[in-house]
Amino acid sequence: MATSRKKLFIKTYGCQMNVYDSGRMADVLAPLGYEPAEEAEGADMVILNTCHIREKASEKVYSELGRLRLQQQEKAAAGERMIIAVAGCVAQAEGAEIMARAPHVDMVFGPQTYHQLPEMVTRAVRGAGGVINTDFPVESKFDLLPGEGATPQGPSAFVSVQEGCDKFCTFCVVPYTRGAEYSRSATQILEETRRMVANGTVEITLLGQNVNAYHGEGPDGGTWGLGRLIRALAEIDGLARIRYTTSHPRDMDDDLIRAHGEVPQLMPFVHLPVQSGSDRILAAMNRKHTADDYRRIVDKLRAARPGLALSSDFIVGFPGETAEDFAATLRLITDVGFASAYSFKYSARPGTPAAAMAEGRLTEDDKSERLEAVQTLLAEQQRAFNAGLLGTVQEVLFDRRGKHAGQLLGRSPHMQAVHAAAPDRLLGQVVPVRITAASASSLGGEVVTTETALAETVLAETFLGNKTAPSGVAPDIKANHQEMTA
Ligand code: SAM
Ligand code: SF4
Repeated sequence: MATSRKKLFIKTYGCQMNVYDSGRMADVLAPLGYEPAEEAEGADMVILNTCHIREKASEKVYSELGRLRLQQQEKAAAGERMIIAVAGCVAQAEGAEIMARAPHVDMVFGPQTYHQLPEMVTRAVRGAGGVINTDFPVESKFDLLPGEGATPQGPSAFVSVQEGCDKFCTFCVVPYTRGAEYSRSATQILEETRRMVANGTVEITLLGQNVNAYHGEGPDGGTWGLGRLIRALAEIDGLARIRYTTSHPRDMDDDLIRAHGEVPQLMPFVHLPVQSGSDRILAAMNRKHTADDYRRIVDKLRAARPGLALSSDFIVGFPGETAEDFAATLRLITDVGFASAYSFKYSARPGTPAAAMAEGRLTEDDKSERLEAVQTLLAEQQRAFNAGLLGTVQEVLFDRRGKHAGQLLGRSPHMQAVHAAAPDRLLGQVVPVRITAASASSLGGEVVTTETALAETVLAETFLGNKTAPSGVAPDIKANHQEMTA
Protein backbone atom coordinates (compact mmCIF):
# COMPACT_ATOMS: atom_id res chain seq x y z
CA MET A 1 0.00 0.00 0.00
CA ALA A 2 1.41 3.42 -0.96
CA THR A 3 1.89 5.76 1.99
CA SER A 4 1.52 9.49 1.34
CA ARG A 5 4.58 11.61 2.06
CA LYS A 6 4.50 13.84 5.11
CA LYS A 7 7.02 16.24 6.57
CA LEU A 8 8.46 15.60 10.05
CA PHE A 9 10.43 18.19 11.99
CA ILE A 10 12.12 17.14 15.23
CA LYS A 11 13.70 19.78 17.46
CA THR A 12 16.16 18.27 19.89
CA TYR A 13 17.11 19.83 23.23
CA GLY A 14 19.70 18.69 25.76
CA CYS A 15 22.06 15.75 25.73
CA GLN A 16 23.41 13.39 23.07
CA MET A 17 20.98 10.74 24.28
CA ASN A 18 18.18 12.97 22.99
CA VAL A 19 19.99 13.37 19.65
CA TYR A 20 20.13 9.58 19.37
CA ASP A 21 16.46 9.23 20.40
CA SER A 22 15.38 11.80 17.79
CA GLY A 23 17.10 9.74 15.08
CA ARG A 24 15.28 6.59 16.23
CA MET A 25 11.91 8.42 16.31
CA ALA A 26 12.49 9.40 12.67
CA ASP A 27 13.23 5.71 11.89
CA VAL A 28 10.00 4.60 13.60
CA LEU A 29 7.93 7.19 11.71
CA ALA A 30 9.50 6.60 8.27
CA PRO A 31 7.23 3.61 7.41
CA LEU A 32 4.23 5.89 8.06
CA GLY A 33 5.46 8.20 5.28
CA TYR A 34 7.14 10.84 7.46
CA GLU A 35 10.30 12.32 5.96
CA PRO A 36 12.71 14.63 7.82
CA ALA A 37 12.17 18.38 7.24
CA GLU A 38 14.59 21.21 8.02
CA GLU A 39 12.06 23.48 9.73
CA ALA A 40 8.77 23.44 11.56
CA GLU A 41 7.02 25.70 9.05
CA GLY A 42 4.82 23.61 6.79
CA ALA A 43 5.59 20.36 8.65
CA ASP A 44 2.84 17.77 9.18
CA MET A 45 4.32 16.72 12.48
CA VAL A 46 6.60 18.62 14.88
CA ILE A 47 8.20 16.82 17.80
CA LEU A 48 10.00 18.73 20.55
CA ASN A 49 12.39 16.24 22.13
CA THR A 50 12.92 17.96 25.45
CA CYS A 51 15.38 18.22 28.34
CA HIS A 52 14.41 18.65 32.00
CA ILE A 53 17.87 18.80 33.52
CA ARG A 54 17.76 22.50 34.44
CA GLU A 55 14.84 24.88 34.80
CA LYS A 56 15.93 26.97 31.80
CA ALA A 57 15.93 23.88 29.59
CA SER A 58 12.27 23.06 30.36
CA GLU A 59 11.00 26.66 30.12
CA LYS A 60 12.29 26.88 26.54
CA VAL A 61 9.76 24.20 25.58
CA TYR A 62 6.75 26.27 26.57
CA SER A 63 7.89 29.31 24.58
CA GLU A 64 8.49 27.10 21.54
CA LEU A 65 5.00 25.60 21.93
CA GLY A 66 3.55 29.13 21.82
CA ARG A 67 5.30 29.81 18.49
CA LEU A 68 4.17 26.47 17.07
CA ARG A 69 0.53 27.19 17.90
CA LEU A 70 0.52 30.03 15.39
CA GLN A 71 1.95 27.79 12.66
CA GLN A 72 -0.56 25.08 13.52
CA GLN A 73 -3.39 27.64 13.16
CA GLU A 74 -2.05 28.81 9.78
CA LYS A 75 -2.04 25.23 8.53
CA ALA A 76 -5.53 24.63 9.87
CA ALA A 77 -6.74 27.74 7.99
CA ALA A 78 -5.44 26.09 4.80
CA GLY A 79 -7.37 22.92 5.70
CA GLU A 80 -4.24 20.98 6.77
CA ARG A 81 -3.18 19.41 10.03
CA MET A 82 0.01 19.91 12.04
CA ILE A 83 0.48 17.33 14.78
CA ILE A 84 2.48 18.75 17.69
CA ALA A 85 4.21 16.37 20.08
CA VAL A 86 6.33 16.84 23.18
CA ALA A 87 8.76 13.99 23.83
CA GLY A 88 11.70 13.40 26.18
CA CYS A 89 12.27 14.24 29.82
CA VAL A 90 9.94 17.27 30.19
CA ALA A 91 7.17 15.11 28.73
CA GLN A 92 7.98 12.37 31.24
CA ALA A 93 8.07 14.75 34.21
CA GLU A 94 5.18 17.06 33.36
CA GLY A 95 2.89 14.96 31.10
CA ALA A 96 -0.61 16.17 31.97
CA GLU A 97 0.61 19.67 32.90
CA ILE A 98 1.84 20.19 29.33
CA MET A 99 -1.60 19.32 27.94
CA ALA A 100 -3.19 21.70 30.45
CA ARG A 101 -0.80 24.59 29.68
CA ALA A 102 -0.76 23.95 25.92
CA PRO A 103 -3.99 22.20 24.83
CA HIS A 104 -2.97 22.44 21.15
CA VAL A 105 -0.41 19.68 21.81
CA ASP A 106 -1.56 16.34 20.34
CA MET A 107 0.90 13.89 21.90
CA VAL A 108 3.08 13.85 25.03
CA PHE A 109 5.34 10.84 25.41
CA GLY A 110 8.31 9.88 27.57
CA PRO A 111 11.74 8.63 26.46
CA GLN A 112 10.91 4.94 26.94
CA THR A 113 7.81 4.82 24.71
CA TYR A 114 8.73 6.09 21.25
CA HIS A 115 8.66 2.60 19.73
CA GLN A 116 4.87 2.93 20.30
CA LEU A 117 4.70 6.05 18.10
CA PRO A 118 2.71 4.50 15.21
CA GLU A 119 -0.10 3.59 17.61
CA MET A 120 0.05 7.03 19.32
CA VAL A 121 -0.09 8.80 15.93
CA THR A 122 -3.15 6.78 14.93
CA ARG A 123 -4.89 7.80 18.14
CA ALA A 124 -3.89 11.46 17.75
CA VAL A 125 -5.07 11.57 14.11
CA ARG A 126 -8.44 10.16 15.11
CA GLY A 127 -8.52 13.25 17.30
CA ALA A 128 -10.19 11.85 20.39
CA GLY A 129 -8.24 14.19 22.72
CA GLY A 130 -4.51 14.43 23.36
CA VAL A 131 -2.43 11.29 23.81
CA ILE A 132 -0.32 11.08 26.97
CA ASN A 133 2.12 8.20 27.30
CA THR A 134 4.58 8.42 30.16
CA ASP A 135 4.76 4.71 30.97
CA PHE A 136 7.90 2.73 31.60
CA PRO A 137 6.82 -0.23 29.43
CA VAL A 138 7.94 -3.72 30.39
CA GLU A 139 9.27 -4.31 26.87
CA SER A 140 12.46 -2.44 25.93
CA LYS A 141 12.14 0.05 23.09
CA PHE A 142 15.53 -1.19 21.84
CA ASP A 143 14.05 -4.62 21.04
CA LEU A 144 11.33 -3.04 18.91
CA LEU A 145 13.11 -0.31 16.96
CA PRO A 146 13.77 -0.77 13.24
CA GLY A 147 17.13 -2.41 12.53
CA GLU A 148 17.64 -2.94 8.83
CA GLY A 149 16.69 0.17 6.90
CA ALA A 150 17.55 2.61 9.69
CA THR A 151 18.67 5.99 8.30
CA PRO A 152 22.46 6.24 7.65
CA GLN A 153 23.95 8.25 10.49
CA GLY A 154 26.97 9.83 8.76
CA PRO A 155 30.69 9.47 9.56
CA SER A 156 30.25 10.02 13.31
CA ALA A 157 27.26 8.44 15.03
CA PHE A 158 25.82 7.76 18.47
CA VAL A 159 24.97 4.29 19.73
CA SER A 160 22.90 4.10 22.88
CA VAL A 161 24.19 1.26 25.08
CA GLN A 162 22.75 2.07 28.49
CA GLU A 163 19.91 4.16 29.83
CA GLY A 164 18.52 5.33 33.10
CA CYS A 165 20.28 5.71 36.40
CA ASP A 166 20.11 4.24 39.90
CA LYS A 167 22.57 6.64 41.50
CA PHE A 168 20.14 9.33 42.65
CA CYS A 169 22.48 12.29 42.96
CA THR A 170 20.44 14.68 45.08
CA PHE A 171 20.31 17.44 42.41
CA CYS A 172 19.38 15.29 39.41
CA VAL A 173 16.07 14.42 37.71
CA VAL A 174 17.46 11.68 35.45
CA PRO A 175 16.52 8.69 37.68
CA TYR A 176 12.93 9.99 37.66
CA THR A 177 12.64 10.85 33.96
CA ARG A 178 14.69 8.06 32.39
CA GLY A 179 13.93 5.38 34.92
CA ALA A 180 16.02 2.53 36.30
CA GLU A 181 19.41 1.62 34.89
CA TYR A 182 19.17 -0.66 31.85
CA SER A 183 21.94 -2.06 29.59
CA ARG A 184 21.30 -3.29 26.05
CA SER A 185 22.73 -6.63 25.02
CA ALA A 186 26.22 -6.54 23.50
CA THR A 187 24.91 -8.54 20.51
CA GLN A 188 22.35 -5.84 19.72
CA ILE A 189 24.97 -3.08 20.04
CA LEU A 190 27.48 -4.96 17.85
CA GLU A 191 24.80 -5.53 15.19
CA GLU A 192 23.70 -1.88 15.21
CA THR A 193 27.31 -0.71 14.94
CA ARG A 194 28.13 -3.15 12.09
CA ARG A 195 25.11 -1.82 10.18
CA MET A 196 26.20 1.78 10.76
CA VAL A 197 29.76 1.04 9.60
CA ALA A 198 28.38 -0.65 6.46
CA ASN A 199 26.46 2.62 5.88
CA GLY A 200 29.61 4.78 6.12
CA THR A 201 30.03 5.48 9.84
CA VAL A 202 33.69 5.45 10.98
CA GLU A 203 33.32 6.81 14.52
CA ILE A 204 30.84 5.82 17.19
CA THR A 205 30.14 7.39 20.55
CA LEU A 206 28.63 4.95 23.00
CA LEU A 207 25.95 6.71 24.98
CA GLY A 208 24.47 6.27 28.41
CA GLN A 209 23.47 8.43 31.34
CA ASN A 210 26.05 6.36 33.18
CA VAL A 211 27.70 4.71 30.25
CA ASN A 212 30.48 3.05 32.23
CA ALA A 213 27.90 1.37 34.48
CA TYR A 214 27.23 -0.73 31.34
CA HIS A 215 26.69 -4.38 32.21
CA GLY A 216 24.98 -5.95 29.20
CA GLU A 217 24.63 -9.58 28.25
CA GLY A 218 27.48 -10.70 25.98
CA PRO A 219 27.14 -13.17 23.07
CA ASP A 220 28.87 -15.71 25.35
CA GLY A 221 26.03 -15.44 27.88
CA GLY A 222 28.25 -13.62 30.40
CA THR A 223 27.88 -10.05 31.63
CA TRP A 224 30.11 -7.63 29.76
CA GLY A 225 31.40 -4.36 31.15
CA LEU A 226 32.13 -1.33 28.97
CA GLY A 227 35.82 -2.24 28.50
CA ARG A 228 34.89 -5.67 27.15
CA LEU A 229 32.27 -4.16 24.84
CA ILE A 230 34.78 -1.64 23.49
CA ARG A 231 37.32 -4.40 22.75
CA ALA A 232 34.65 -6.33 20.78
CA LEU A 233 33.59 -3.21 18.87
CA ALA A 234 37.24 -2.51 17.99
CA GLU A 235 37.23 -5.78 16.01
CA ILE A 236 34.73 -4.34 13.52
CA ASP A 237 36.57 -3.71 10.30
CA GLY A 238 36.04 -0.11 9.17
CA LEU A 239 35.37 1.33 12.61
CA ALA A 240 38.23 3.81 13.12
CA ARG A 241 37.21 5.52 16.34
CA ILE A 242 35.34 4.72 19.53
CA ARG A 243 34.27 7.19 22.22
CA TYR A 244 31.89 6.96 25.17
CA THR A 245 29.94 9.40 27.31
CA THR A 246 28.87 10.17 30.06
CA SER A 247 30.87 8.37 32.71
CA HIS A 248 30.63 8.34 36.46
CA PRO A 249 33.86 8.25 38.51
CA ARG A 250 32.54 5.34 40.63
CA ASP A 251 32.15 3.12 37.56
CA MET A 252 35.59 3.78 36.07
CA ASP A 253 36.88 0.22 36.54
CA ASP A 254 40.40 -1.09 35.85
CA ASP A 255 39.41 -2.98 32.70
CA LEU A 256 38.02 0.18 31.12
CA ILE A 257 41.09 2.16 32.18
CA ARG A 258 43.37 -0.54 30.68
CA ALA A 259 41.37 -0.41 27.43
CA HIS A 260 42.56 3.19 27.02
CA GLY A 261 46.14 1.91 26.77
CA GLU A 262 45.34 -1.17 24.70
CA VAL A 263 42.65 -0.29 22.16
CA PRO A 264 44.00 2.12 19.52
CA GLN A 265 40.52 2.96 18.25
CA LEU A 266 39.49 4.21 21.71
CA MET A 267 40.11 7.96 21.51
CA PRO A 268 42.31 9.67 24.15
CA PHE A 269 39.50 11.75 25.60
CA VAL A 270 37.20 11.09 28.56
CA HIS A 271 34.28 13.15 29.77
CA LEU A 272 34.21 12.43 33.48
CA PRO A 273 31.89 14.69 35.49
CA VAL A 274 33.03 15.50 39.03
CA GLN A 275 30.53 18.31 39.89
CA SER A 276 32.50 19.68 42.86
CA GLY A 277 35.99 19.61 44.41
CA SER A 278 34.66 19.68 47.98
CA ASP A 279 34.17 16.38 49.81
CA ARG A 280 31.45 17.93 51.94
CA ILE A 281 29.45 18.98 48.86
CA LEU A 282 30.15 15.71 47.06
CA ALA A 283 28.65 13.89 50.07
CA ALA A 284 25.60 16.21 50.08
CA MET A 285 25.21 15.49 46.37
CA ASN A 286 25.29 11.72 47.11
CA ARG A 287 28.14 11.25 44.64
CA LYS A 288 29.77 8.61 46.91
CA HIS A 289 33.34 9.51 45.99
CA THR A 290 35.80 12.13 47.19
CA ALA A 291 37.82 14.72 45.29
CA ASP A 292 40.98 12.64 45.88
CA ASP A 293 39.25 9.51 44.51
CA TYR A 294 38.70 11.55 41.36
CA ARG A 295 42.34 12.69 41.26
CA ARG A 296 43.47 9.04 41.60
CA ILE A 297 41.23 7.91 38.73
CA VAL A 298 42.63 10.67 36.52
CA ASP A 299 46.20 9.59 37.40
CA LYS A 300 45.39 5.98 36.46
CA LEU A 301 43.80 7.01 33.17
CA ARG A 302 46.79 9.18 32.28
CA ALA A 303 49.21 6.40 33.24
CA ALA A 304 47.31 4.02 30.93
CA ARG A 305 47.10 6.52 28.09
CA PRO A 306 49.65 9.34 28.28
CA GLY A 307 48.30 12.52 26.74
CA LEU A 308 44.69 11.60 27.47
CA ALA A 309 42.52 14.75 27.59
CA LEU A 310 39.84 15.22 30.21
CA SER A 311 36.55 17.00 30.28
CA SER A 312 34.08 17.34 33.14
CA ASP A 313 30.84 18.84 34.45
CA PHE A 314 30.73 21.26 37.39
CA ILE A 315 27.80 22.57 39.40
CA VAL A 316 28.38 25.79 41.36
CA GLY A 317 26.15 27.09 44.11
CA PHE A 318 24.78 23.77 45.35
CA PRO A 319 22.83 24.44 48.59
CA GLY A 320 25.29 24.98 51.44
CA GLU A 321 28.35 25.53 49.22
CA THR A 322 30.68 27.81 51.22
CA ALA A 323 33.57 29.92 49.95
CA GLU A 324 35.94 27.13 51.13
CA ASP A 325 33.95 24.47 49.25
CA PHE A 326 34.10 26.58 46.14
CA ALA A 327 37.85 27.16 46.58
CA ALA A 328 38.25 23.35 46.70
CA THR A 329 36.54 23.13 43.28
CA LEU A 330 38.96 25.68 41.82
CA ARG A 331 41.84 23.70 43.38
CA LEU A 332 40.66 20.47 41.79
CA ILE A 333 40.39 22.14 38.39
CA THR A 334 43.92 23.52 38.75
CA ASP A 335 45.30 20.12 39.85
CA VAL A 336 43.68 18.10 37.07
CA GLY A 337 43.86 20.45 34.09
CA PHE A 338 40.90 20.06 31.72
CA ALA A 339 40.89 20.22 27.93
CA SER A 340 37.23 21.27 28.02
CA ALA A 341 34.35 21.30 30.49
CA TYR A 342 30.75 22.26 31.13
CA SER A 343 29.75 24.27 34.18
CA PHE A 344 26.32 25.16 35.47
CA LYS A 345 24.65 27.13 38.21
CA TYR A 346 22.76 24.80 40.51
CA SER A 347 19.11 24.73 39.47
CA ALA A 348 16.55 23.30 41.91
CA ARG A 349 14.55 20.55 40.21
CA PRO A 350 11.13 19.71 41.64
CA GLY A 351 11.00 16.34 43.36
CA THR A 352 14.76 16.00 43.92
CA PRO A 353 16.14 15.89 47.50
CA ALA A 354 18.37 18.95 46.97
CA ALA A 355 15.34 21.06 46.02
CA ALA A 356 14.12 20.60 49.60
CA MET A 357 17.45 21.67 51.16
CA ALA A 358 16.57 25.02 52.63
CA GLU A 359 19.88 25.62 54.47
CA GLY A 360 22.58 27.67 52.83
CA ARG A 361 20.83 28.45 49.56
CA LEU A 362 22.89 30.84 47.45
CA THR A 363 21.56 33.94 45.74
CA GLU A 364 21.55 34.07 41.92
CA ASP A 365 24.23 36.79 42.10
CA ASP A 366 26.54 34.61 44.19
CA LYS A 367 25.99 31.65 41.85
CA SER A 368 26.71 33.86 38.82
CA GLU A 369 29.92 35.14 40.39
CA ARG A 370 31.16 31.61 41.10
CA LEU A 371 30.15 30.41 37.66
CA GLU A 372 32.16 33.19 36.09
CA ALA A 373 35.23 32.33 38.17
CA VAL A 374 35.00 28.64 37.24
CA GLN A 375 34.43 29.39 33.57
CA THR A 376 37.36 31.81 33.43
CA LEU A 377 39.71 29.17 34.84
CA LEU A 378 38.34 26.43 32.57
CA ALA A 379 38.58 28.68 29.50
CA GLU A 380 42.24 29.44 30.32
CA GLN A 381 42.95 25.71 30.53
CA GLN A 382 41.13 25.00 27.28
CA ARG A 383 43.01 27.79 25.49
CA ALA A 384 46.34 26.49 26.81
CA PHE A 385 45.49 22.91 25.82
CA ASN A 386 44.57 23.98 22.30
CA ALA A 387 47.61 26.24 21.95
CA GLY A 388 49.84 23.33 23.02
CA LEU A 389 48.90 21.53 19.81
CA LEU A 390 50.12 24.29 17.50
CA GLY A 391 52.60 22.84 15.02
CA THR A 392 51.66 19.20 15.76
CA VAL A 393 49.86 16.91 13.34
CA GLN A 394 46.52 15.58 14.54
CA GLU A 395 44.30 12.97 12.98
CA VAL A 396 41.02 14.65 12.13
CA LEU A 397 37.83 12.88 11.18
CA PHE A 398 36.16 15.23 8.70
CA ASP A 399 32.42 14.85 9.17
CA ARG A 400 30.91 18.07 7.75
CA ARG A 401 31.41 20.84 5.23
CA GLY A 402 32.50 24.16 6.73
CA LYS A 403 30.94 27.58 6.34
CA HIS A 404 33.42 28.56 3.62
CA ALA A 405 33.71 26.95 0.20
CA GLY A 406 36.37 24.23 0.10
CA GLN A 407 36.46 23.92 3.89
CA LEU A 408 35.77 20.79 5.92
CA LEU A 409 35.12 20.46 9.66
CA GLY A 410 35.98 17.60 11.92
CA ARG A 411 37.20 16.48 15.31
CA SER A 412 40.68 15.78 16.64
CA PRO A 413 41.23 12.67 18.80
CA HIS A 414 40.79 14.97 21.83
CA MET A 415 37.36 16.14 20.56
CA GLN A 416 38.52 19.59 19.48
CA ALA A 417 36.68 21.10 16.53
CA VAL A 418 39.14 21.45 13.62
CA HIS A 419 38.66 23.26 10.31
CA ALA A 420 40.89 22.98 7.25
CA ALA A 421 40.81 23.58 3.51
CA ALA A 422 40.11 20.11 2.13
CA PRO A 423 38.33 18.50 -0.82
CA ASP A 424 34.93 16.84 -0.35
CA ARG A 425 36.42 13.41 -1.05
CA LEU A 426 38.00 13.55 2.43
CA LEU A 427 34.57 13.71 4.10
CA GLY A 428 34.19 10.67 6.32
CA GLN A 429 37.96 10.06 6.38
CA VAL A 430 40.50 10.31 9.19
CA VAL A 431 43.17 12.63 7.83
CA PRO A 432 46.41 14.07 9.32
CA VAL A 433 46.16 17.83 9.74
CA ARG A 434 48.98 20.15 10.82
CA ILE A 435 47.59 22.58 13.40
CA THR A 436 48.34 26.17 12.43
CA ALA A 437 45.79 28.11 14.49
CA ALA A 438 44.30 27.66 17.93
CA SER A 439 41.59 29.54 19.79
CA ALA A 440 39.70 28.64 22.96
CA SER A 441 36.98 26.88 21.02
CA SER A 442 38.62 25.40 17.91
CA LEU A 443 41.71 24.58 15.89
CA GLY A 444 42.58 25.38 12.29
CA GLY A 445 45.05 23.51 10.15
CA GLU A 446 46.37 22.21 6.84
CA VAL A 447 45.95 18.72 5.51
CA VAL A 448 49.30 16.91 5.54
CA THR A 449 50.10 15.02 2.40
CA THR A 450 53.81 14.14 2.43
CA GLU A 451 55.44 11.17 4.11
CA THR A 452 58.13 13.33 5.69
CA ALA A 453 55.54 15.37 7.50
CA LEU A 454 53.77 12.23 8.60
CA ALA A 455 56.90 10.88 10.22
CA GLU A 456 56.75 13.53 12.95
CA THR A 457 53.11 13.02 13.75
CA VAL A 458 51.04 12.15 16.69
CA LEU A 459 49.64 9.50 14.32
CA ALA A 460 52.81 7.48 14.91
CA GLU A 461 52.34 7.80 18.65
CA THR A 462 48.67 6.86 18.50
CA PHE A 463 49.09 3.61 16.61
CA LEU A 464 52.60 2.65 17.68
CA GLY A 465 52.84 -1.07 18.18
CA ASN A 466 49.95 -1.83 15.81
CA LYS A 467 50.71 -3.27 12.44
CA THR A 468 47.57 -1.86 10.89
CA ALA A 469 45.85 1.45 11.25
CA PRO A 470 42.08 1.26 11.67
CA SER A 471 40.38 0.99 8.33
CA GLY A 472 38.50 4.32 8.43
CA VAL A 473 41.86 6.06 8.03
CA ALA A 474 42.31 7.54 4.54
CA PRO A 475 43.94 4.86 2.29
CA ASP A 476 47.10 6.79 1.33
CA ILE A 477 47.73 7.64 4.97
CA LYS A 478 47.12 4.05 6.03
CA ALA A 479 49.74 2.87 3.53
CA ASN A 480 52.24 5.35 4.94
CA HIS A 481 51.40 4.39 8.45
CA GLN A 482 51.93 0.68 7.76
CA GLU A 483 55.37 1.52 6.40
CA MET A 484 56.19 3.47 9.54
CA THR A 485 55.16 0.75 11.95
CA ALA A 486 56.29 -2.34 10.02
N1 SAM B 1 25.37 11.07 34.55
C1 SAM B 1 26.23 12.15 34.51
C2 SAM B 1 26.99 12.23 35.83
O1 SAM B 1 26.90 11.37 36.63
O2 SAM B 1 27.64 13.20 36.10
C3 SAM B 1 25.56 13.47 34.20
C4 SAM B 1 24.26 13.53 33.54
S1 SAM B 1 23.43 15.09 33.53
C5 SAM B 1 22.42 14.75 32.17
C6 SAM B 1 24.57 16.26 32.86
C7 SAM B 1 25.04 17.32 33.79
O3 SAM B 1 24.01 18.24 34.09
C8 SAM B 1 25.49 16.84 35.15
O4 SAM B 1 26.77 16.29 35.12
C9 SAM B 1 25.41 18.09 36.00
O5 SAM B 1 26.63 18.79 35.98
C10 SAM B 1 24.32 18.90 35.31
N2 SAM B 1 23.13 18.96 36.15
C11 SAM B 1 22.30 17.95 36.46
N3 SAM B 1 21.33 18.38 37.30
C12 SAM B 1 21.57 19.69 37.53
C13 SAM B 1 20.93 20.69 38.33
N4 SAM B 1 19.87 20.39 39.06
N5 SAM B 1 21.46 21.92 38.32
C14 SAM B 1 22.53 22.23 37.59
N6 SAM B 1 23.18 21.33 36.82
C15 SAM B 1 22.71 20.07 36.80
FE1 SF4 C 1 22.05 12.22 37.41
FE2 SF4 C 1 24.44 11.29 36.61
FE3 SF4 C 1 23.85 11.41 39.21
FE4 SF4 C 1 22.60 9.61 37.65
S1 SF4 C 1 24.81 9.70 38.19
S2 SF4 C 1 21.65 10.87 39.20
S3 SF4 C 1 22.43 10.78 35.74
S4 SF4 C 1 24.10 13.13 37.76
